[in-house]
Amino acid sequence: MPEGDTIFRTARSLGRALGGQAITGFRSTYPNLTRFHDDAPLTGRIVDRVESRGKWLLIHFSGGATLATHMLMNGSWHIYRHGERWLKPRFDMRIVIENSSYVAVGFRVPVAEMHTPESLARQRRIPTTEIDVLRDDFDAGEVTRRMVAHAGETIADVLLNQSVMAGVGNEFKSEVCFVTGIHPYCKVAALSADQVQAVIAASRKLVGANVLEDSSDRIVTYLGRGRRTTHESDPTASLWVYGRAGEPCRRCGERIRRRIQGDDARVTFWCPRCQPMPDGSDIDG
Ligand SMILES: [Zn+2]
Repeated sequence: MPEGDTIFRTARSLGRALGGQAITGFRSTYPNLTRFHDDAPLTGRIVDRVESRGKWLLIHFSGGATLATHMLMNGSWHIYRHGERWLKPRFDMRIVIENSSYVAVGFRVPVAEMHTPESLARQRRIPTTEIDVLRDDFDAGEVTRRMVAHAGETIADVLLNQSVMAGVGNEFKSEVCFVTGIHPYCKVAALSADQVQAVIAASRKLVGANVLEDSSDRIVTYLGRGRRTTHESDPTASLWVYGRAGEPCRRCGERIRRRIQGDDARVTFWCPRCQPMPDGSDIDG
């Protein structure tokens, strides 16, 4: 599943290709989108801006229309020049948006809906900007209130809850817990106020560091001793714990643990020595 940083970078690329330009063509395999386009054509409208909100990608058109898409596991947006060969098969195409220079193609985008300003304001699934770790108007106080409301859940599960804080996916979840020294199975209720703030700050820092202009497509949380490139073939070379079960902790040498966690059965990694449970209990991994 794409994490918040991936969607953010996709939004930035789409914004550069489509922003400020008039739409010259729109097609979709989704009836709800083509119906909207039939009633209130997108052709001729200007793309005002493209933004990410957590894992949602929003394309705002002039005249009050917004296309909201969610990639779930397999969706992606590609940008091509006219006539350029697509890198994915045509039957995976769900949405095409064209201007005079580019063709933006949404492949296997499983969730796509058109909104008016009113319906966008009414809906509750797309996160508001105040809880998006990548937004300047991020409100740590609001996120703190929402986290504390889930006091009985583990911090790892709460980190994945996009209605509490948006933008942290499963890889960042384990990395955030590691850099803050918190056991992923620790309940939010057992965290100190400082630890809650540290988790929020680390989430913003780690995800934010992966949306810089020179960020690679691969998540980087660990740069190693003096190492500045992440071109190793092993994708876990740039991570503290994620994907490193059985390997030595980069800080203490202890064996990294792995366990399937939560109702959604997401994989979690941690170091039992750097991230002890507050009550000293042991979680098998
Ligand atoms: Zn360790």
